[in-house]
Amino acid sequence: MSQKIAIVGGGYIGAELAKSLDDTAQVTLIEPRSHFVHAPAMIRAVVDPSLLDRALIPYDRLLTNGRVIASKAKAIDAKGVTLEDGTRVEADQIVVATGSGNAMPFKPQGADIAGLKADNQRIHQQLKEAQNIGIVGAGAVGTELAGEIAYAMPDKKVTLISSDAALFPTMPSKLGNSLAAKLRKAGVTLILGQRAENLKSLTEPYAGTLQLADGSQHDFDLIFPAIGSRANSKVIETLAGVQKTTANRIKVDPWMRPSSVPNIFAAGDVADAGDGMTIVATSRQLPWLKATLSGLAQGKTVEDMKPYKPWGSKAPILVPLGPKQGNSFLGFFTAGDFLTSRMKGKDLFLKKYAKLLNQPEG
Ligand SMILES: Cc1cc2nc3c(=O)[nH]c(=O)nc-3n(C[C@H](O)[C@H](O)[C@H](O)COP(=O)(O)OP(=O)(O)OC[C@H]3O[C@@H](n4cnc5c(N)ncnc54)[C@H](O)[C@@H]3O)c2cc1C
Repeated sequence: MSQKIAIVGGGYIGAELAKSLDDTAQVTLIEPRSHFVHAPAMIRAVVDPSLLDRALIPYDRLLTNGRVIASKAKAIDAKGVTLEDGTRVEADQIVVATGSGNAMPFKPQGADIAGLKADNQRIHQQLKEAQNIGIVGAGAVGTELAGEIAYAMPDKKVTLISSDAALFPTMPSKLGNSLAAKLRKAGVTLILGQRAENLKSLTEPYAGTLQLADGSQHDFDLIFPAIGSRANSKVIETLAGVQKTTANRIKVDPWMRPSSVPNIFAAGDVADAGDGMTIVATSRQLPWLKATLSGLAQGKTVEDMKPYKPWGSKAPILVPLGPKQGNSFLGFFTAGDFLTSRMKGKDLFLKKYAKLLNQPEG
């Protein structure tokens, strides 16, 4: 176990990579949060805060041999990581997996898990008191949120607004059409092909009036911004010559390296390797990273190994609308309520992530 690996960020890719290398390498995971944040369950937690206990999972049992340092990384270089307080973590290989931020109450601001719980409580209360709810952005988060509210609080009037003319326009049309039909049947109003011109906050729900591109005005008791994630790229930007792409992501080479430093890798949302910003993407990157890091331990060079190949148009997506309904694109076909509920909607992968973090399933 002479190979020293430092992993910056313990989200989907960082936590799973750290655990998978725990028996074969000296792993240091640098992660400022006390708890892993299981994002898919944070959407349903808006209508059912009791889920928070299972969606926020402590890191204390993740590793047996390696260590988790509860700190933020400030900078990286070929020899290791510098933490916020100046402490050095020396490593042979470094993987940066600092992920992305999103709106309240889906992800914490920085490491603030108590703040995330408070946001959830406050926004759940606001939702209970609201009658007329607007959701701006109909990606997976906005669409799922509309479905969760319609299922759990059927008396609310929910409007889902997107600047795109269809739901999931880059996917086979059956996915978006089917989801749109189910949402409409559940009473959700869809306003498609209309950009909200005056969104006041990109990160926090608020009460107000939205003006759409066609000049129409719509009053809401609560408006949820759901316009996508932005990568946490600061640490990688301490390397020379890195290149930003969309949403603050950093471009990586075919071996997932963000710069010319040969032993620094980046993965997950922060790395633009040709995949979307999804857990699904991390599930493909993970086996590649494991194989590459173990090849390096055996004395191979990076370029001797196969480059990473992103999902391309076959990337699956699972979009539940509450626990019982939804649609999924599974690479070759679009599945309906039964499979979407079985695969995701019912349990939201909560058991899987409790197991990953070696916690009881709750
Ligand atoms: C509400 C919501 C629901 C979602 N649902 C799905 C879904 O159902 N399916 C799907 O495929 N995708 C889903 N996604 C997308 C998914 O959450 C992301 O793709 C995923 O979190 C990316 O994983 P990651 O490991 O790259 O980063 P993250 O999970 O964002 O983790 C990054 C970690 O890095 C840490 N970090 C940040 N900066 C530093 C630093 N300087 N030093 C040390 N640590 C640092 C953070 O504290 C964090 O723990 C959802 C996203 C949201 C917002």
